[in-house]
Amino acid sequence: MDITQTETTPRLELPPFQNEKIFPGCDDPQVKDAFPRAIARVRKELGKTYPLFIDGREVVTEEIIDSINPAEPDEVVGRVCQAGAKEAEEALTAAQKAFQTWRDTSASERADYLVRAAKIARERIYELASWQVLEEGKQWAQAYNDLAEGIDFLEYYAREMLRLGQERDMGSYGGEVNQYFYQPKGIAVVISPWNFPFAISCGMCAAAMVTGNCVVFKPSSEAPVVGHHLVEIFCEAGLPPGVFNYIPGRGSVIGDLLVDSPRTNIIAFTGSMEVGLRIIEKAGRTPENQPSVKKVVCEMGGKNAIIIDDDIDVDKAVTGVLYSAFGYQGQKCSACSRLIVLDAVYDKFVERLLEGARKLKVGPAEDPENYMGAVIDRSAQEKILGYIELAAKEGDILYSSEVPDKGFYVPLTIVGGITPEDRLAQEEVFGPVLAVMRAWDFDQALEWANSTRFALTGAVFSRNREHLERARRDFRVGNLYFNRSCAGAMVQIQPFGGFKMSGVGTKAGGPDYLLHFMDPRSLTEQS
Ligand code: NAP
Repeated sequence: MDITQTETTPRLELPPFQNEKIFPGCDDPQVKDAFPRAIARVRKELGKTYPLFIDGREVVTEEIIDSINPAEPDEVVGRVCQAGAKEAEEALTAAQKAFQTWRDTSASERADYLVRAAKIARERIYELASWQVLEEGKQWAQAYNDLAEGIDFLEYYAREMLRLGQERDMGSYGGEVNQYFYQPKGIAVVISPWNFPFAISCGMCAAAMVTGNCVVFKPSSEAPVVGHHLVEIFCEAGLPPGVFNYIPGRGSVIGDLLVDSPRTNIIAFTGSMEVGLRIIEKAGRTPENQPSVKKVVCEMGGKNAIIIDDDIDVDKAVTGVLYSAFGYQGQKCSACSRLIVLDAVYDKFVERLLEGARKLKVGPAEDPENYMGAVIDRSAQEKILGYIELAAKEGDILYSSEVPDKGFYVPLTIVGGITPEDRLAQEEVFGPVLAVMRAWDFDQALEWANSTRFALTGAVFSRNREHLERARRDFRVGNLYFNRSCAGAMVQIQPFGGFKMSGVGTKAGGPDYLLHFMDPRSLTEQS
């Protein structure tokens, strides 16, 4: 950022940040009318071909993959052009060129693009959410709330940049005046997962761009059509060419190239621990022709636990656990996959949990009657089914739901008799499999809750103030919740992200996040 520009450009005035309203419920009259109509409209558009978007232009490639509906694998949601090495290099070149101007565009102007993008997404919310219902198998509420979170990221980061974009007077000493301000790092490669296909992609791209970086965005190969929505929204918002480039392509084909490129300055990644660690390692190598040390903003997996104390409101806790474990088929980094129940309430609580689970319907996400839908693809289905086989060996299957024949379904599964050393208690399954553990007392429950490599989310249901205070200190995760679900963080009020093998501690949607995308500078002037 150029210090003189910040001073002369009129400052964008925005009202204080407020979270977007979350899904009002399937029985809401507007929802009942708007969602089915939007899904029907989207269905008419299925099967279109989506080009890459580089330097403000559409780029068509020979290689195309079909993105399909996981609940209806014969249904092609979109046909998506695939970037290879050539297109990845072209995108880096476009970003590099655009950076020369974008970095000196004022913070206000850059923030204004985000606010415009938020308005566009808000106006299209039902339609955009409907694509997620079909491409990612998200229930109405899950899809809608993903959009709401994406809009929140746009609005919040716009305001954050207005705050950080003002140079700070650091005081004077011996006739010298001192200022402190930030400049962008350069080219940001954004690599996103499929499970929050709009929110996470939008958040990482928005943060990178509003801080003055130019983006090369590689969406997940499971969510490229939703990834293309960012192209539509940022184009309509009027972003200059080259600031945002969209290059869908297999991680195994272009991932290393983007990470290794000496032109890449920062990588914003959200996904699995395996891929995240690989990126961190590769980005740590610095070839001679690389002008700067790469920064990696990295959010990874979880193995989240909920502790059930012996004095709880059982109904509330059952609802919270079912939502945490099986909302969006357990395919959330924040999902509960370990339930640690104190011995004194174990039998009663587990019985009520199973009662609740038996009532949950499994079927296509587009039907709001279904609580749980298909998992994202065949390989996820096979992997989760493998874990369910393992669960039967390591513990006892307490409940396994029926599933439809067609589509990538796995049963909603609850397994008892799991102990901390079991693989079911240690590895991220990323599906609707809940491992239940019996702990003798609260100390043991806390010890078990902390006994994995991950540290993302967790929850405690308890009325015991002393226990809650101990959990506040000793339950060491990035996002801890008391007496509610461990999923569903909101921008600004619950900045999200973990540490240990869950991430490098960067908290998306929080007050420190934008700082990762910039370098601070200090200026001293003697009169
Ligand atoms: P993933 O398999 O790690 O993929 C994430 C992204 O990395 C995709 O775009 C993928 O591309 C790309 N990729 C794959 N190999 C790569 C390589 N060698 N170099 C660079 N990029 C590469 O994860 P996922 O299955 O999409 O998402 C689920 C995971 O994300 C879970 O572990 C979940 O816990 C985690 N997650 C964490 C958070 C958080 O905030 N902590 C939030 C959401 C999800 P392709 O799709 O083309 O393979």
